[in-house]
Amino acid sequence: MSLAWFGLKTIIFKQKKPILGTIILTDYCNLSCKHCAVNNIKRKMQSYEKVLEEMHNFYRDGIRILFFCGGETLLWEDQGRTIKDLIREGRKIGFYLINVVTNGTIDLNLPEADLVFLSLDGMRETHNLIRGDTFDTIMKNLELAKDTNICIYMAVNKLNYKEIEKVGRLAKEHPRVNSISFNLHTPYQGTEALSLSREEKIETIERIKSMVKQGIPVFNLPGALKIYLKNNWPRPCYQCLVWEDGKRYICGRCVEIEGLCEECGYLFAVEFSLLFRGNLWIILEMFKTYLKYV
Ligand code: SF4
Ligand code: SF4
Repeated sequence: MSLAWFGLKTIIFKQKKPILGTIILTDYCNLSCKHCAVNNIKRKMQSYEKVLEEMHNFYRDGIRILFFCGGETLLWEDQGRTIKDLIREGRKIGFYLINVVTNGTIDLNLPEADLVFLSLDGMRETHNLIRGDTFDTIMKNLELAKDTNICIYMAVNKLNYKEIEKVGRLAKEHPRVNSISFNLHTPYQGTEALSLSREEKIETIERIKSMVKQGIPVFNLPGALKIYLKNNWPRPCYQCLVWEDGKRYICGRCVEIEGLCEECGYLFAVEFSLLFRGNLWIILEMFKTYLKYV
């Protein structure tokens, strides 16, 4: 109800207040994925105190949905404290949803989180081509996971777009996975060759929509997929905020890279942007999808 009230106020008064906040805990990462532009640049772990302070700042500023991200998020630790401590603090502060993004190479047992977004970029050969030899480790960690709060997070690019149905079926059939969320490649400098052509994007979006009809647990909103292709959705999304190393960014860290927003493939940004501009269809789809998978 509270989120619905926030949405209503945002739409009626055209407010630009954030509701979803992401804290980048570290840029350390144990992988070096082909499409990555953020790993191991400063090689910095944020301190527990700084993160906690920002969590309180986020809450004070109205943010109620919290994401922890990296680098590899689960590498984060400070004086014996881990992500589990941060999630517990987040609950005490009062966040409604607390989600974690991970590359899946570290223990996936995180019952404290509402959703664990697990990056998987294809079946074994393709995933390993993009993310290094990690597919089997991820599958093993999935088997060992006790909870079903895992959402596969696939970044679709030139190398893996033919495999989205296979990964979708894996998501449907795996007892620990509750859903799958797709993003299309956003062409950071040096990764442009991984971008899908216009025709490939159309084909990919049509296939994702067809997966929804086939009962694959797709987290994306079909209405937003259609609008994504038209590429006329308003951006940046003012309801999303990212904090990294003392600096805040509206929408994403990518917001300062010239020309990148026009090529944005982050489908959550499309969804939130449309949602808070009062797109009724997206509002209905959002309720339906979030109540099903969160
Ligand atoms: S796991 Fe994430 S942060 Fe690490 S290299 Fe891959 S995309 Fe980058
Ligand atoms: S629209 Fe937002 S998520 Fe997309 S590239 Fe721009 S800042 Fe990043």
